Parts: sequence; structure tokens; C-alpha cells
Amino acid sequence: MQLYNTLSAKEREALIEEAGQERLTISFYKYARIGNPSIFRNHLFIHWNELDVLGRIYVAHEGINAQLSVPAENFGAFKAHLDSISFLENVRLNIAIEQDNKSFLKLKVKVRRKIVADGLNDETFDVTNKGVHVDAEKFNELIEDSDTILVDMRNHYESEIGHFKNAITPDVDTFRDSLDIIEKDLAAHKEDKKLVMYCTGGIRCEKASAYYKHKGFKNVYQLEGGIIEYTRQVQNRNLENKFLGKNFVFDHRRGERITNDVIANCHQCGQACDTHVNCANEACHLLFIQCEDCAKAMNNCCSVECKEIHELPYEEQKKLRKGKVVSNKIFKKGRSEVLKYKK
Ligand SMILES: [Zn+2]
Ligand SMILES: [Zn+2]
Repeated sequence: MQLYNTLSAKEREALIEEAGQERLTISFYKYARIGNPSIFRNHLFIHWNELDVLGRIYVAHEGINAQLSVPAENFGAFKAHLDSISFLENVRLNIAIEQDNKSFLKLKVKVRRKIVADGLNDETFDVTNKGVHVDAEKFNELIEDSDTILVDMRNHYESEIGHFKNAITPDVDTFRDSLDIIEKDLAAHKEDKKLVMYCTGGIRCEKASAYYKHKGFKNVYQLEGGIIEYTRQVQNRNLENKFLGKNFVFDHRRGERITNDVIANCHQCGQACDTHVNCANEACHLLFIQCEDCAKAMNNCCSVECKEIHELPYEEQKKLRKGKVVSNKIFKKGRSEVLKYKK
């Protein structure tokens, strides 16, 4: 029984190209009690691997959080399999606006302690006492209300390339940091203002809204399905789109264009640009915003130092990396001394 990937990303990429079939990029999450996440994990891997599903999925006792790429022709079978799992029947699937056949190149189903690394101790508050879920239409109404404080629950590198007009966008590296900062900044308005929040697909607001209610906020609202579902509803129902720029996504696409506004700047030269790249020096891999001019001049690197390393023969690079810890972790996202135009 195959429970793990047998193909490398490169081999997979070649296969996808050869097959030439259309794939759908999908995400969904569900908080539910899962007794044995390991067994559930294996069950998913076996069935989804058969359907040629790729992606990154986290399974925990508290539920499932999945980002996937599914062959369009297998979508029916995939949906039928989801519906066969009691707590996933009719779960809302966020389907990406811009399709990319290579959004994911492996199927990784991981058992974690939590489905979002939120840094919260769930035993200390009632996670089921959530905010009011609102759809795009109600959300548009709410954010025009002068009693509303609109908060972006995502991290700095996400809101930097796109966010709702007039939203507070905390300059934070982690979800946990934003929770504290927002609570402190809005402490005087726990009762008189409406706290309206949003994130990429809605999952972060599920916990954040409950946390803020626990902290004494009286009027808490959350955008159901996040920016992804908002965009779909705005298109289908012909509503005004109050989002600006790109929605940051956690796959190879990195961002999904929602409107033509470019609200960010190249971190190297400062010109208008909202394209995220990873530094080509594998030992660095910093996620940052780079324009085409700088990409050319810097050979896709974040700094002169990285450029020099990147241009060495591969064997030399490997020697240099020896003994060093490569960290693609959160702090390597868009913050570095070498980036002149990143605040
Ligand atoms: Zn530039
Ligand atoms: Zn670099």
C-alpha cells in the first residue's frame, strides 16, 4: 500500500505537462472531532493518491485544513469521496479564481497538533462561541458603517500585496502577534464598535473571532470563506469589489490577482510591483517582492551576497551550506536587512 510520494517534484511536473489535463486548485477546512488523525490521514492519502490529487493537508484532533490540486476530470469522484466522510459532507470548497496546473507538485498529508499554527491555548476559551458569519453583500454593508473597525487577520507579507480598503493591516509575522496587537489597539472599543475581520479562506477568523469575544468584544463579525469566497460571490452576484490588489495564496502561484491595483513595491528598487519570489540562493530562499528589472540585475537573488553564492558551481554551494541550518520559516518572509524598500 502506497502511503507516501514516490515521485519527485520535478518528475511530477513533467508528468503534469505531458498529461496536459486541466487541474483545479481547491482549498477547504473543517473543525471537527477526529479521534485518530493518523488513521484518517492514511485513509485520505490512499484515496486521494488514487485520484491523482496533490497538495498540502493538515489533519489534527481538531479537524482538517487542506489546499489541493485536483484533476478536473476527477473532481466528481473527489467530491463524492468527501461527501462519504460524515463531517465533510457538503463542506464549502474554495475554488481558486486563477487556475495553475502546477499549484502543487506533491501530495503531503500531515498529522499536526493543530490545523492552523495559531499559538492559542484552546482550553482557555470557548472556541465554539464564534463571531457572526457574513457573506460578501453584508460584509460590503458593514465595512461602510462608521461604527466598524475592519481588521485584516493575516501577516505582513500577505496584506502587503492586497487588502480591503480602509482595513487595519497589522505589521506582524505571526497570527499570534496580530491577536495581541489588535486587542491592545482596540481595547477602548470593545463595546461601542463593530469588529469585522477577514483572512484568506476564513479559517483564521474561526478562532480569532471566538478569542476576541472571550476578550470582551461585544460585536464580532467574520467574512465567511474569506477573500476567496468573497471574490467568487462578488463576481457571481455582481457586487462592488472592495478588495484592492492580490490575494496571497500558499501554493506555487503565491498570489491571485483580484483587482488590477498594484499596492506594493519592489523591495529592491521601490517601483510599483506585487510579485513575490523566493531568493534563488537555495540557502536563503527569502520570500520577497522583486520587479522584473531587479530580477534580471540580481539574477533572481535578494542580495549581492546571495547572487555571488547562487552563481558558484552547485558543488561549491553545497559545501558552503554544510552545517548551516536552512530556514524557510516565517521570519524569512519579506524581512531582511538587505531589502531597502521593506519597512
Ligand atoms: Zn525592482
Ligand atoms: Zn537571498
